[in-house]
Amino acid sequence: MTEFLRFIVLGGALACPFIPLYFYFTGNWYAFFHPYSLGAVFGLFSYVYFLNTLIIAGRIKFFDRLFGHDRVMVFHSYLAMTAMFSALVHLLLKQFYFQTEAISVLPGIWGLLIFFTVAAITMLFMSGPGQNLRFFSALRSFAADRLKIDYNHFKLFHNLVSAAAVLIALHALAASSTREKNSRTLILGIWAIAALSIYLYHKLFKPAFLLKKLVIQSVTMLTDDLLQIRFEKSRDRLIDRSGQFGFFRILSPVCGREEHPFTVASSPDEPVSLLIKKNGDYTGKLHGLQPGTEVLFDGPYGRFFAEKKSGCCLGIAGGAGISPFISFFSERKNTGFPHPFIFIWCVKRQEDLFCLDFLGELKKKFPNFSFTLFISEQGNRLNYTFLQQFFTKYPPLKTTVYFCGPQTLRQSVSAWIKTAGLPKKSFYYEKFSL
Ligand SMILES: Cc1cc2nc3c(=O)[nH]c(=O)nc-3n(C[C@H](O)[C@H](O)[C@H](O)COP(=O)(O)OP(=O)(O)OC[C@H]3O[C@@H](n4cnc5c(N)ncnc54)[C@H](O)[C@@H]3O)c2cc1C
Repeated sequence: MTEFLRFIVLGGALACPFIPLYFYFTGNWYAFFHPYSLGAVFGLFSYVYFLNTLIIAGRIKFFDRLFGHDRVMVFHSYLAMTAMFSALVHLLLKQFYFQTEAISVLPGIWGLLIFFTVAAITMLFMSGPGQNLRFFSALRSFAADRLKIDYNHFKLFHNLVSAAAVLIALHALAASSTREKNSRTLILGIWAIAALSIYLYHKLFKPAFLLKKLVIQSVTMLTDDLLQIRFEKSRDRLIDRSGQFGFFRILSPVCGREEHPFTVASSPDEPVSLLIKKNGDYTGKLHGLQPGTEVLFDGPYGRFFAEKKSGCCLGIAGGAGISPFISFFSERKNTGFPHPFIFIWCVKRQEDLFCLDFLGELKKKFPNFSFTLFISEQGNRLNYTFLQQFFTKYPPLKTTVYFCGPQTLRQSVSAWIKTAGLPKKSFYYEKFSL
């Protein structure tokens, strides 16, 4: 059923430019492939896809539950690329065949320029199309090293797409072909208003009025670079299932009021706690937070442990990537695991280890839970041979693999399990980057 719903939603998202196309071409479909009409076709595809990227950016929970946040964001970026490509073809066709001086062209050109600039810079600083290609990753690390643009400044800059959307909507609404029929103006107008409203609701209204408030109870350093933030018990459950994450905005002068995503490391029934690794400017300041500090929470998002699978589970965590697993294990600490759960935790140093007592207790209590540590500094790294041994005992077709950790480890694990014959749909991962 879920697969079917995904198919319908994805198909609908890709096919929806045909709705305005119907209003433009009904009664004269024969003209569809004329270069002038093709210009309009590409223009409408670009218009709808671009506005749909704004709708998706509104973090609509229905999409998140259906596909998972990572995939929604990847789709968002591919849709933006397709919109841009269509806009360029639209521009070329229109200019090549019908050079026009119409005033309505100007907002379109400006909208496209802004969109193009934002998209190009996004490719340098956020994950998206081509992120796994060597050329792009080299370009991204070069840009990150040289330009040192703060991620949150970049996020602010990214909001310029809403200005581009207004300009592009003005361009489309003022075009002579749109003005020919009220139905065309209406459908394009509704699309623009809906997309901009969802975007502005998400960016302005929700943070100002609708987010849940949490209060910090304690901040503890668990290792020299990993801290735990515990929150006071709140009235409502903040997550629906273990392994979910939220966007946290800590309201303190210690760290500013930026919004950052963190995975909830407690079970849905416990007061929320987070495990945060010192990773940069922001996370490096959080140890200075005081109990009583208020925090806004937007979530829950993610579906790491969403689908109930039968058969064995292999969980692999790298460093702070243990967070969703702790949430899951806390949920299971009284009831146990219905199927064998083999957990692998890879860390750099002995000093990175914590919560071993908790894992040890689970192992003692539940015979179908086991865990293995890999400490790379001691020359002890997870490798294909280890996984091969695992898969001789537990057939890949009956195994689900969950991974959370650094990208390099994820890429290796992904390649190993593919070689071992594990189907792609049985591999769930959380990237810790957007
Ligand atoms: C879904 C998800 C869940 C996460 N869960 C955890 C967790 O449980 N524990 C943990 O330690 N880390 C987690 N992270 C990573 C954490 O959000 C980043 O390490 C943190 O935001 C880095 O901020 P910084 O300014 O200290 O580091 P920087 O050096 O400024 O940034 C390092 C990288 O973190 C990302 N980043 C920075 N700021 C933001 C932001 N505001 N929003 C999104 N990404 C940003 C960017 O990719 C950036 O390149 C998670 C990330 C995601 C996407």
